[in-house]
Amino acid sequence: MAAKIKVNNPIVEMDGDEMTRIMWHLIKEKLITPFLDIDLRYYDLGIKHRDETDDRVTVDAADAIKEFGVGVKCATITPNAARVKEYGLKQQWKSPNGTIRSMLDGTVFRKPIIINNIPPAVQSWNKPIIIGRHAYGDIYRNTEFIADRPGAAELVFTPADGGEKTVLKIHDFKGRGVVMGMHNTEPSVRSFARSCINYAISEKTDIWFGSKDTISKVYHGFFRDIFAEEVEKAADSLKKAGIQYRYLLIDDAVAQVIKSSGGMLWACMNYDGDVMSDMVATGFGSLGLMTSVLVSPDGKYEFEAAHGTVVRHYYEHLKGNPTSTNSIASIFAWTGALAKRGELDGTPDVSGFAGKLERIVIETVESGIMTKDLMLIADPPVKKYALTEEFIDAVADRLKTAVN
Ligand code: NAP
Ligand code: MG
Repeated sequence: MAAKIKVNNPIVEMDGDEMTRIMWHLIKEKLITPFLDIDLRYYDLGIKHRDETDDRVTVDAADAIKEFGVGVKCATITPNAARVKEYGLKQQWKSPNGTIRSMLDGTVFRKPIIINNIPPAVQSWNKPIIIGRHAYGDIYRNTEFIADRPGAAELVFTPADGGEKTVLKIHDFKGRGVVMGMHNTEPSVRSFARSCINYAISEKTDIWFGSKDTISKVYHGFFRDIFAEEVEKAADSLKKAGIQYRYLLIDDAVAQVIKSSGGMLWACMNYDGDVMSDMVATGFGSLGLMTSVLVSPDGKYEFEAAHGTVVRHYYEHLKGNPTSTNSIASIFAWTGALAKRGELDGTPDVSGFAGKLERIVIETVESGIMTKDLMLIADPPVKKYALTEEFIDAVADRLKTAVN
């Protein structure tokens, strides 16, 4: 066997839960550690360990990403009441992704993996459509209530410096109705725009941003203007990377995306990103083919699969039944982190290994070896699906041949 490739700087590894945790260990043991001499800073974000550490481990992991610049994360449980009971938790811990995202002030980008025999729902999409969602504010931090009788609803702003209040009429209700107040902040919108620019440069992809500024001249106009300012500030680097910035009305953006061949970063306001990322993920085939990366405005990266812990499959596994869970997005979380580490360290061997592993995964599926979720949509059709471990083993066999 060839000598292991040296990775010069550490990668922060965050373990997770359930079916994805099982795949995580198979991937690491069969596709990563046999080939790389790598310093993995391990944080166990599995629900038991988060509970034992009162969630301190999540904060420590986020600090480590800030220090080393690159992390790779397994899917984790975000506990609800049922999970608190199931795992006997001390409390309903916050979403680890939410904690890490707010500590890094990052934006999440979701990018599909394109495979020739897994056709997208939209035939013309032959390049990825990457969605960047601004994950702060708007309706996700709103205040809303039902006006249960006639009356006036107003927007009131009280300056902290004791200056005069601003009062704006929303509506004079003649009967029952509903009102909502929402906000965003300039630093958050700027960070979002900067993260999009960083990521577009790193991926060499055009940026599209859509809003409804014809109707919401002030609120949506605020986003449009700040985005345009940040693009202007980065004009030189964007030009050097050959990247175009395109502003569109959101409805026009939807129509243009459907007609396109893909190949753009679609920057979305919070609600648009929530809705459109699910549409695009479904359009490209399977959640098992959707990767996700968190990018901070100062260029720190955390890679993961977009899907959750695939709990239904895990319960089957616990019953002793075989599973056919797709590990591709989790493998690509590792390759994404390795490619970025190699780029930051100036070690083309490391990035080259990541690229090779990605190609081998795609070739494996194109040769007809795939998990059940893909078998159901493959064209040409395949007759048999691989079990969870069989797929990873098939990739490992090809990888061994390729590096020796
Ligand atoms: P999920 O894990 O995304 O899975 C939902 C369904 O999608 C699965 O039951 C399966 O469909 C299909 N699927 C998703 N990933 C797949 C894969 N890799 N291979 C094959 N099929 C796949 O969502 P969930 O089961 O509703 O959520 C489980 C837990 O994940 C929750 O506790 C949630 O908090 C957590 N979660 C974490 C993250 C994260 O850490 N980033 C994100 C989302 C959810 P079939 O059942 O039809 O086979
Ligand atoms: Mg959604």
